[in-house]
Amino acid sequence: MQFRENPKGSQYGRTLVVGHWIGGKEVGEKAKERFQSLNPAWRDDVVGDFPVGTAKDVEQACKTARDAFKAWRTVPAPIRGEAIGRLGQLLRREKERLSQLLSREIGKPLREARGDVQEAIDTASFFHSEGRRLYGQTVPSELRRKELETFRRPLGVCAIITAGNFPVAVPSWKMIPAVLCGNTVVWKPSEDSSAIAWAFASLFRAAGVPEGVVNVVYGPGPSTGQALVDAIDKGLVDKISFTGSSAVGKRVGEVAGRNLQVPSLELGGKNPMVVMEDADLELAVTGAIWSAYGTGGQRCTSLGNLILHKKIADKFVKRFLDQVKTLHMGDPSFDEDITYGPMINERFLKRYLEHHKMAEKAGAKALLVGERIKKGKEPKKFTGDAEKGLYVTPTLYDNVDINSELAQTEVFGPTINIIRVADFDEAIAAANGTPYGLSSSIYTNDPVYRHRFKTEITAGMTSINNTTSGAEAHLPFGGNGWSGNGTRESGIWVIDAYTKWQCVNIDDSGGLQLAQIETEGVEGGDPQDIDPLLPSKT
Ligand code: NAD
Repeated sequence: MQFRENPKGSQYGRTLVVGHWIGGKEVGEKAKERFQSLNPAWRDDVVGDFPVGTAKDVEQACKTARDAFKAWRTVPAPIRGEAIGRLGQLLRREKERLSQLLSREIGKPLREARGDVQEAIDTASFFHSEGRRLYGQTVPSELRRKELETFRRPLGVCAIITAGNFPVAVPSWKMIPAVLCGNTVVWKPSEDSSAIAWAFASLFRAAGVPEGVVNVVYGPGPSTGQALVDAIDKGLVDKISFTGSSAVGKRVGEVAGRNLQVPSLELGGKNPMVVMEDADLELAVTGAIWSAYGTGGQRCTSLGNLILHKKIADKFVKRFLDQVKTLHMGDPSFDEDITYGPMINERFLKRYLEHHKMAEKAGAKALLVGERIKKGKEPKKFTGDAEKGLYVTPTLYDNVDINSELAQTEVFGPTINIIRVADFDEAIAAANGTPYGLSSSIYTNDPVYRHRFKTEITAGMTSINNTTSGAEAHLPFGGNGWSGNGTRESGIWVIDAYTKWQCVNIDDSGGLQLAQIETEGVEGGDPQDIDPLLPSKT
């Protein structure tokens, strides 16, 4: 590992040059094929330089993790929890510097970057003490002098593949419980956020997690990521946890399925927000702006379809457009007040600029058509370098049909579609009207609407009078349909994803007792005592 001077982007910091991290050693530093992670606000700033992980590297990492599993699984869970507790302390101590690196590498506003790191701190704090629980059960037996117990056992080698938009929070949701439960990990972070991944993984080592328990292989999805998925077929991986697009997630699920493994799949979204006629409009407008344009729409929980009751739709749109004028884009490294920074990568930028074609096809009414910010044509209050960064303005389409491709497709940029509805039935049908089911929200003060929304929405997560975003480390996070396979991150629920149940029968009878076959019955009779009081039989 070394740090290279970064002459063109020196105001941002140095360039990390590093190899994969396998069994406590750097591997592949001299690989011919390398890739770089660039600061999306200033593309001359090379944040990190990494080898492209080959199938051989992936295999080596999986075998190392398999070896390390033998010892790690036997470490008492409270002791494993102590290491996670120390990880939390280190994250807390380094929160500001990690947040700055995170912001530099993926362009997230600093206060959101701090939130990203804070989520990992909260997750470590939750799982620190979970090492002292990881409860099983004692279960009564149907036979005498026999007792039954259940235990959670670790799964083995966990392959973890993550997207770049929550580069510390989301990996922490997977790696912390996986390690706490006694598993070992091979992590392929996003190519967009490999430097912050390196920093996060280094903290596991500093926290006292033994070498080989957490291994990191860098590289692009179609090559290195695919090699890690292929490792399931080779018998090198016992569990895969994937966060990313629905298209890739489905393929990961197929490979896991044919190996009879249950993957954790956290995928895309086209999240709806409903605003009913009785809503507090000021609150709803502010919530919609944050849901849609916060993080430049590059959150899996970003708002996609804004479903407005037609009685308030015009008023809402006017207030929304007034508030959009106050938004403030720019370079997060030098301006703490931005609403959102650049697009994370060229791929997201291209997809955003191309999504307008779907709007044309849908016959949507264009109220704001987002475009790339160009030098000399920057919006008011813009504080970045338009030529060097991947900046865009926001989009708003009105009169969109929920069945159009525009309303059915995740864009992953600052864009929303307004769908106007006449009543609650139409609103909930539109909210449930895409194949996704990650997050959702409703603004209303009517208890009947609230109750109906909670019980009828098919998304895995919903908010009443709040935005479509906002996870907490002790609440289950995840979606249904194209948004995931029903497994959940966070809290006690995620433990099911990283352990398997074992049941133990302990027979102290000294003889051969056969459950079901030799189980005692109870003798009973007719309920004669109460018979006179009951109505006569007809
Ligand atoms: P992506 O699927 O292209 O990439 C995600 C990860 O998978 C990256 O590490 C990538 O390198 C890897 N990858 C890509 N192709 C692969 C392949 N063939 N085999 C194995 N790995 C492969 O996703 P993206 O476009 O970079 O990220 C944005 C997507 O992630 C959006 O759809 C967003 O909604 C989703 N996301 C979901 C959640 C969630 O918790 N539900 C959180 C964050 C992001």
